[in-house]
Amino acid sequence: MGRMHTPLALIDVTAGTVRTARLEDAQFPVEDLAIHRGEGIFETVLVSVGPSAGDAAPAATAAASTAPAAPAAPRPHRIHSEEAHFERFQQSAAMLELPDPPRALFDEAVAAVIDQVVAGLDDSVTEFSVRYALSRGLDAHADTAAHAAAGTPTGARGWAFPISVTPVQAAQRTDGVRVITLDRGYDAYLGERAPWLLIGAKTLSYAVNQAAARHAKAQGADEALFVSRDGLVLEGPTANLVIRRGDALLTPDPRAGLLHGTTQRAAFTGAEAAGHRVRYTDLTVEDVLAADGAWLLSSTRTAVPILSLDGRELTVDAPLTAQLHDWIRAA
Ligand code: PLP
Repeated sequence: MGRMHTPLALIDVTAGTVRTARLEDAQFPVEDLAIHRGEGIFETVLVSVGPSAGDAAPAATAAASTAPAAPAAPRPHRIHSEEAHFERFQQSAAMLELPDPPRALFDEAVAAVIDQVVAGLDDSVTEFSVRYALSRGLDAHADTAAHAAAGTPTGARGWAFPISVTPVQAAQRTDGVRVITLDRGYDAYLGERAPWLLIGAKTLSYAVNQAAARHAKAQGADEALFVSRDGLVLEGPTANLVIRRGDALLTPDPRAGLLHGTTQRAAFTGAEAAGHRVRYTDLTVEDVLAADGAWLLSSTRTAVPILSLDGRELTVDAPLTAQLHDWIRAA
């Protein structure tokens, strides 16, 4: 991404160190549990860059320059919903019984990636995402002494790297998506009696989510919306559902079996401040079809209006879409 080498920040949790590398050169031990078992967790944060990005909460490198001849100051940037992401990261770690992710190391890693990306960005680029992750580390059968001798961390390790916002993702924010429902295969609220299913943790085991997205595309749709066996709508493979009913914004209860979205929370905060009612509740496909507007919300794409569900047209509320974008960017 950008004109520079793509940065990668590597965290050795046990040693308490962060080092930067080039993403294109990255080497990852194949015996890491993240690779063969999906034993890890991640977050993806959206970063806005540019004069308006630092308005509400300037990030560390933000600088207001008044001297025209001064060397170019780093462009201000802002990590959206930064706290909510890290809190969810900690909750996911607890659910998988991973070590509590050290905040200072992850902050350092994310900042290193952002600083390198921002320094190399074209002025025309105003946003990108950063993904950070934590793995349990090497599998028990690995020869840890050999790995340690080679300088490879043997315990929990983390990493952070940037991801571009693609033109397709940016366009979907206004153009919208066509969605089909897909069976999630479990009853709503199953997670409450089956915590080992890790429902609601943001793990690196995303093969099912990826397969659902591919299945939706193979059916000619842009997106999937998971429905529980007992008929409640849950979430998309990488996004939460929000609908408008009158002046209220509604979203499925995370306890029903879905990831509690940071974007949805930011949207609710903005909507409440603007006088809307907001509510977590059980929703069915019929509720979505009858809604006054429906959106998929996620960090990178922010809010994407749903144009149709299973081929049936939905009401599209363009003004509220614009407001959702503003509320999400304000967080
Ligand atoms: N649900 C799932 C399964 C996701 O993977 C994501 C994000 O990637 C979301 C919901 C939306 O979460 P957030 O708004 O925090 O990005």
